Amino acid sequence: MENSSDVIHQAAEIIKEGGIVAFPTETVYGLGADAFNPLAVARIFEVKRRPYFDPLIVHVANPDDVKKLAKEIPPHAKKLIERFWPGPLTVVLLKKEDIPDIVTAGLSTAAIRMPNHPMALSLIKESKCPIAAPSANPFGYLSPTTADHVQEQLGDQVDLILDGGPCSVGVESTILSFLEEKQSLLRPGGISLEEIESIIGKVEVHPVGEERPRAPGMLPRHYAPRTPILLDWNEKDLDHYQGKNIGLLAFQEAKNHLKFHHVEVLSKKGDLREAAANLFAAIRRLDALDLDLIFSETFPEIGLGRAIVDRLRRASHSITSPPLVGGNKGERE
Ligand code: AMP
Ligand code: MG
Repeated sequence: MENSSDVIHQAAEIIKEGGIVAFPTETVYGLGADAFNPLAVARIFEVKRRPYFDPLIVHVANPDDVKKLAKEIPPHAKKLIERFWPGPLTVVLLKKEDIPDIVTAGLSTAAIRMPNHPMALSLIKESKCPIAAPSANPFGYLSPTTADHVQEQLGDQVDLILDGGPCSVGVESTILSFLEEKQSLLRPGGISLEEIESIIGKVEVHPVGEERPRAPGMLPRHYAPRTPILLDWNEKDLDHYQGKNIGLLAFQEAKNHLKFHHVEVLSKKGDLREAAANLFAAIRRLDALDLDLIFSETFPEIGLGRAIVDRLRRASHSITSPPLVGGNKGERE
């Protein structure tokens, strides 16, 4: 087994030479390139088949590095950075001119975060540049929370995959924007809205599905498996699908388990953090079973529950109740 500092060194060399590396963070695995190398960043978009209007998050290894990327840091953004970095919080700020347009989709702003994972931090430090990275999965599909997930989905298309074990948070970062003196939540994620509001007061929140996403890339359908997911359902839907192969994504316990082909329980003790950490891997396991449909329970929309429900709504977006009969598979984006 290679020593982890050797392999991080090798990964940093790849980044410096304009390559792309998949690496662990506490949220999900990222696919990174030197944020100041537009050609390297372009390869990320190609490999992911990600539309160019969807900007990337720039990852730094030190809170002070935000000053090199942002024109100004509003006091509330500064407070949150002091409190939550390194951690699953991304701030959207007015960017400095020299960040390439491909990273920010031509916007005047950049999304910046310092991840809380030793391998990610060493990689950024050794590469001596901020690393632009989206999640290491094909666009629209479930985010990877282990190195194996990355291998299965992107495999040989990336120059190296760093294995740092399963991600501890398991859902993407919370994205907050600080523009024109407004503070708004662009994506719920690993730091809860309650924690944020306890420090900076009220934050504007927009419901999922609202048209014209303010965070480019926050498409109503996203984070989706191939098997259709049904989120808002009732007992009648279960009868309607009698005889079909149906899986259940449950929070604490498997109710009606005899009616399901397979059940995934996210947290027996009802802990939303644990549920978030297990979410994507559990959906993947269900997706691998060739089911006709996945029924998902809903989750309390507090704390990390907000991020879980957001991802489930996006994963299930095009499915209305009662959904497709006949076991058609949902499209991949
Ligand atoms: P991903 O890393 O794949 O989870 O996606 C990063 C997300 O960050 C994008 O889909 C956008 O929603 C958001 N984002 C990145 N840069 C900006 C920006 N400058 N303004 C608003 N949202 C951004
Ligand atoms: Mg993503």
